[in-house]
Amino acid sequence: MPPAEQLASDLWSIPVTIPNNPLRYVNCYGFGTGAGLVLLDTGWASEESWRALTAGLATAGAAVTDIRGVLVSHLHLDHSGLAGRIRQESGAWVAMHPAEHAAIARPDYRDAALAVRKEAEFLRSLGATAAEAEDVVETEEEFAPFCSVALPDRELSDGDLADVPGWRLRAVHTPGHTPGHLCFADERARRLFAGDHILPRITPNVSVQRADPVDPLRDYLRSLDRVGPMDVDEVFPAHEWRFRGLAGRAKAIAAHHERRLAELLGAIERMPGATPWELAGQLTWSRPWDAYSGRMRIHAVTETAAHVHLLERRGLVRSSGGPVPGYRRIP
Ligand SMILES: [Zn+2]
Repeated sequence: MPPAEQLASDLWSIPVTIPNNPLRYVNCYGFGTGAGLVLLDTGWASEESWRALTAGLATAGAAVTDIRGVLVSHLHLDHSGLAGRIRQESGAWVAMHPAEHAAIARPDYRDAALAVRKEAEFLRSLGATAAEAEDVVETEEEFAPFCSVALPDRELSDGDLADVPGWRLRAVHTPGHTPGHLCFADERARRLFAGDHILPRITPNVSVQRADPVDPLRDYLRSLDRVGPMDVDEVFPAHEWRFRGLAGRAKAIAAHHERRLAELLGAIERMPGATPWELAGQLTWSRPWDAYSGRMRIHAVTETAAHVHLLERRGLVRSSGGPVPGYRRIP
């Protein structure tokens, strides 16, 4: 765990532990000093994360009660998980993009029993059998924290300035990793707070989700195209480390997805009519396919589906339609 670190007179990096996750921590950023601090991202909804956050704030000379606002880059629990608890203790506002707000307000994102059922139905539509879906989807208990993400008091749309005194921090809507993902451009110091949109080493998961089953990879590649040319000296991501060379990294990630698309097109050619569930196992992953269980397998399948959808949009494959579509290469 890197320590909390002062990056400028009014800017702190506060790494917050993510329990049982190979990413290990999320980089939260604190804008301002002491009373009136605004936080970007919060950490996972757990005691361990809460302790890490409060300890990091103490290093920055602040307490939770000093936080006046919480910016949430996107709805995932490592970013949004403690927003509600912070608001409870400090009265802080919580802001996110309207698309994230809409997603977490859906009944199947508030009610764990419904979420489990809808998630299993969604996986079956991607080709899982009932038993396979049941095997990978979390239990109602495991789903509960995801259904308690704080609904925001404020929305931030593309181009809006965040309410951070002394800063010009502009929201940049970068859909792809989630439908309402936000980066924040610090226009004075040419920094980009990138959330999970662009990370220095790993590529963020880009998946069809039951809230947004259409074309997240197309959105994501557009968001990369948009952010790549920005006038930015240094990128401040939510995981891993700060880096320079935004344009090059954006190009490298786009090229990675083009290679995946080509690999997938080959698999569809070999297995005409295959579903995303079947196709996922044909692709190269960082570990053997059998090691992908539970949520990891869901991510792999939904990410494969995102690539299938883009191939379809590009006119390279055709869907059979129906409740469980299979795909064929268009000759
Ligand atoms: Zn994250």
